[in-house]
Amino acid sequence: MKTEIIAVGTEILMGHIVNTNSQDIAQALLGIGLGTYYQQVIGDNPERMKEAFALAGSRSDIIIVSGGLGPTRDDITKQMLGEYLGQELVADQGQLDKIKDYFKTREGGITETDYFQALTFKEGETFFNEVGLACGSVYRKDLDNGQQQYFIVLPGPPFEMRHMLHHYLLPYLTKEIYQDHVIESLYVNFYRIGEAKVAEILDDLIVEQTNPTIAIYAQPRRVTVRITASYPTYNEAMAANQALAEQIIERLAPYFLGYGEHYSLEHYVVEQMKAANLRLSAAESLTGGLVMEALTEVPGSSEVLTGGFVTYQTESKTTLLGIDSSFIQEHSVVSEAVAKAMAEATLAKTGTDLSLALTGVAGPDSLDGRRAGTVFIALAVKDQAIQVKQLDIRHRPRGVVRDIAKSEALSMV
Ligand code: ATP
Ligand code: MG
Repeated sequence: MKTEIIAVGTEILMGHIVNTNSQDIAQALLGIGLGTYYQQVIGDNPERMKEAFALAGSRSDIIIVSGGLGPTRDDITKQMLGEYLGQELVADQGQLDKIKDYFKTREGGITETDYFQALTFKEGETFFNEVGLACGSVYRKDLDNGQQQYFIVLPGPPFEMRHMLHHYLLPYLTKEIYQDHVIESLYVNFYRIGEAKVAEILDDLIVEQTNPTIAIYAQPRRVTVRITASYPTYNEAMAANQALAEQIIERLAPYFLGYGEHYSLEHYVVEQMKAANLRLSAAESLTGGLVMEALTEVPGSSEVLTGGFVTYQTESKTTLLGIDSSFIQEHSVVSEAVAKAMAEATLAKTGTDLSLALTGVAGPDSLDGRRAGTVFIALAVKDQAIQVKQLDIRHRPRGVVRDIAKSEALSMV
């Protein structure tokens, strides 16, 4: 089934606001195994709106339009879609009651155009707007070839759109298209491998598989493979997902990180350290606490992360960690020697099994003769030699330098 999304609104077209609705809709549809084939953005212009509907109608099975359901003169989406489809619009009683109720307590009273927000396809279904005033509506067109085409309108305000999308549209489509089958996804994450490489290794599976389907997408420093199955029961769907996941993991074994939609490196670190009963501490200069912030996001991290130091200014490496200021001066604050000394001191002070230390130049300017993007990360492990990694991250903004340093530090652990 081909899905097409149409965002209505001159302010989107002109670049005044970002089209987050189309993004949210496309992502949510993928979650129920529907791929978006086309997107359009159009202004509040009757002719061009009808042109857009006709184009979508000529090539897509599910057409979702967001925006232009409100009470102002330029909100004409439903009217134009009704004209294009040759379908009559009527007021939905439930939505009308809500609108009347709303204006009871408002000064100025109700105007004629306020009623337009309750319009819905006479021969369609209404999506009640629980968090706003304009209802959504869906018209199902039965085509000559025995198939169906769906035209759906959703409100423009992102909060209202998302609410209706998740509470009404997704259940509706699931029921229509999958005849009450459940759709379940399983997420498998890989690390230290690119999206394109994953796609290449799984190519034959991706081509052959229709149930479950496979989708690959890159996330910050990991690649997620989403496996989606549709079956009459949850258990059947998950069993099918699991069987395919195991096949995929076997092919990508060296890169396997873990299962879960939000599973990332920090989850892996916490999990592995917990299993090995190890404790971690950190001294962060460049990252100012980002490493600890990432780890504390993970439930149960308190069993693993002891604590540490944010030693941002050079002096604090002396006052908090006890590193000789002459030593720092001799080696430069951004150096292998200072990173090592920070990790060693942190290990000694906290008594943990592992200690991380990060020092570097986030930029944009150089520091102490070191170019922006120069980073040293040290990992001290009890009774072992200290490891140090040097990064040279060129031409990247501060936030990216700090983020890469954080991830590299976690991957050393
Ligand atoms: P309203 O009752 O607010 O007029 P509406 O259904 O008519 O709602 P629009 O007038 O198209 O919707 O949009 C209302 C507001 O919602 C816009 O000013 C904008 O801030 C936001 N919005 C609309 N469409 C989008 C979109 N595609 N992405 C992000 N925000 C959007
Ligand atoms: Mg509007």
